[in-house]
Amino acid sequence: MAMNNQGRPTTPNVGGDTAAGATFTGNKALQQEEPLIFELDNPGTWGVDLAEPCTDTLKLGPVKPRGAIGLPSLSEPQVVRHFTRLSQKNFGIDSTMYPLGSCTMKHNPRLNEKMARLPGFADIHPMQPFSTVQGALELIDELAKWLKTLTGMPAVAMSPGAGAHGEFCGMMAIKAALEARGEGHRKRVLVPESAHGTNPATAAFCGFTVDPIPAEENGRVSVEAVTSKLGPDVAAIMLTNPNTCGLFEPQIKAIADAVHAAGGYFYCDGANYNAIVGRVRPADLGVDAMHINLHKTFSTPHGGGGPGSGPVVLSEALAPFAPIPFVVHDGEHFRLIEHDADHNATHSSFGRMKAFHGQMGMFVRALAYMLSHGADGLRQVSNDAVLNANYVMASLKDVMSASFEGPCMHEALFDDRFLKGTGVTPLDFAKAMIDEGFHPMTMYFPLVVHGALLIEPTETESKQTLDQFIATLRYLAERAKSGDVAFFQGAPRLTPRRRLDETAAARKPVLRWIPPAPPQAVAAE
Ligand SMILES: *Cc1c(COP(=O)(O)O)cnc(C)c1O
Repeated sequence: MAMNNQGRPTTPNVGGDTAAGATFTGNKALQQEEPLIFELDNPGTWGVDLAEPCTDTLKLGPVKPRGAIGLPSLSEPQVVRHFTRLSQKNFGIDSTMYPLGSCTMKHNPRLNEKMARLPGFADIHPMQPFSTVQGALELIDELAKWLKTLTGMPAVAMSPGAGAHGEFCGMMAIKAALEARGEGHRKRVLVPESAHGTNPATAAFCGFTVDPIPAEENGRVSVEAVTSKLGPDVAAIMLTNPNTCGLFEPQIKAIADAVHAAGGYFYCDGANYNAIVGRVRPADLGVDAMHINLHKTFSTPHGGGGPGSGPVVLSEALAPFAPIPFVVHDGEHFRLIEHDADHNATHSSFGRMKAFHGQMGMFVRALAYMLSHGADGLRQVSNDAVLNANYVMASLKDVMSASFEGPCMHEALFDDRFLKGTGVTPLDFAKAMIDEGFHPMTMYFPLVVHGALLIEPTETESKQTLDQFIATLRYLAERAKSGDVAFFQGAPRLTPRRRLDETAAARKPVLRWIPPAPPQAVAAE
């Protein structure tokens, strides 16, 4: 039996230990084995008839094709089935609950999709004359207004393409502001140990050094821990609120004040804004810059589902350094500022983050979401997100070990103490969830607790779904404690592949398909 390097089986259905059993084809009813499209290659087959290319009008000048480029030959039904079967292997928010903590995998309302497909938004080109895209520019401006109102911040940069890109934007604005003040020597950035990995990565990428702040016993950052690290070389703090343990940082205002008094800026990682939108305005917490993951808080698709979008709200102090381009409204028309000189003498942008002005489709979806909820509805979103997480936490804390006392915000953090002595690891536990049809929660993150299991149900899950999820986890926790370690080590049993060698996949990725040697070459040897 093929095993990965943790001694877990990699091939499906071995041992016949499931009702599904092994099959002749390797298919399991609707679950089809799927080769690479190159392996399906059937030379001489094609789906459409194309005219012979006219080689004397090659548009690439002297650059000429040297031979076939090795694309597979297939009929149209073969292509359609290949991609349909691949799509059916995809775990998505439209198939079942996706409780991945820190990711906010919530339902993407169909209304948003319908709006994003309107030709006036979907079929335009970023280089069209402004006069032909007034509606699209107005939509960007309207979304910017909502983001500024919800956060209480005076400015927003719309172009960042994801949360991590937003962090880059905010930290570059901080760097530019420090340099403009003649304090470019401030190089140290304080980052709590519970932070998402993108925070220290961003700080390092922008040329800062990262100074970690340990978490307190209660999973929070204390003002004392921050003050003890402050000094004339501190550029900023990067703090997430609610933090990645799913806890509100109650000392956040005092921390912001202390950082400001020491001459630093406060970057807030706003990925968890879902938990407080409509209830707390980040401006009132002393934030200088905060990214908002539209693909988390405002329900636009993410993961395999589409590009992200990470607008960054900026304080008065950082606004002049915002990236170009940005939308302005002068009197009657909307236009984009592409160069500082086109705006006003005080704007000194740190530069451009991407070719154009953001992810239009995400903007449309996020604004559709906001308009369909209204301000009161957005507040309800955060209330329900927090309620759902606390429902999960309260329903499971007698069988699983909650990491911190008291209620949580939008996600419930457990650790592996409940598995102690069972021989079952958090990974084994998560794999058993897959057989039950649930995507695992986030595992081994945040790093501040041992064997973390971070569950974020989001507000869009119904009580029925949550009850089924809770009952499943309760059943698995009890089964682990009953000593059935083999059950967990053999999981998952029902997936097309079982435990892959994730270390080898990360360290030695096979990124290219090499055709097998033709038979005659083998014979010649
Ligand atoms: C998701 C997340 C990020 C990164 O956002 P991306 O859009 O994935 O780049 C940063 N910090 C936290 C806390 C997150 O949850």
